[in-house]
Amino acid sequence: MKNIIIFGAPGSGKGTYSDEIVNRYGMGHISTGDVLRGEIKQGSEIGKIAKELIDKGQLIPDDLMVQILAKTYDALPQGRGVIFDGFPRTIAQAEALKQMLQERGHDMGVMVELIVDEETLMERLLRRAQIEGRADDNAETIKKRFEVYHSQTEPLAAWFEKEGIRHTFTWEGSKEKMLANIFAFLDTLK
Ligand code: ATP
Ligand code: MG
Repeated sequence: MKNIIIFGAPGSGKGTYSDEIVNRYGMGHISTGDVLRGEIKQGSEIGKIAKELIDKGQLIPDDLMVQILAKTYDALPQGRGVIFDGFPRTIAQAEALKQMLQERGHDMGVMVELIVDEETLMERLLRRAQIEGRADDNAETIKKRFEVYHSQTEPLAAWFEKEGIRHTFTWEGSKEKMLANIFAFLDTLK
């Protein structure tokens, strides 16, 4: 499978659909949120920096994020395609990803954008807070994450559009329907 960048607001289902895509196509998966939460658990230097920012709903600095991403990418088996979940989140990260892949003779593949209304997002994140207990899933931090998303991440959609790889999928109330639409598209790429 080609590389896939899964893109969307907090709570849009990036992690959920990534798992389904990995199961169907047997590719690699990088969730930068999971990598950072792993670093926090280990109590590493990166973890210390990350915890403070994540708890405030802010982004980790681009240069650090790009280093983490490259290291994680190079540790995966090559040739099966990778799904990037939670990266890039800024234009600078997108430029860095494009360059990193080019240097390795690879490309970005396709971008899959998940569009979900904000009311549904908020409901999902508050529900997740009760199940998973993530420190950043509280109403105040979620609002901050939405703000950061709108100001720093959403403009990337137009960047991907210009790259000619943006593919948009809109939530219509059913996970099965969403997944069927995404698979129908991805099946054409194999
Ligand atoms: P969901 O996974 O439900 O879509 P989300 O996108 O808010 O929600 P994660 O992707 O797990 O959650 O990210 C959690 C936090 O980790 C972010 O709010 C941010 O602080 C940090 N983070 C993750 N990826 C990046 C990145 N590429 N650049 C900067 N910070 C990041
Ligand atoms: Mg996630």
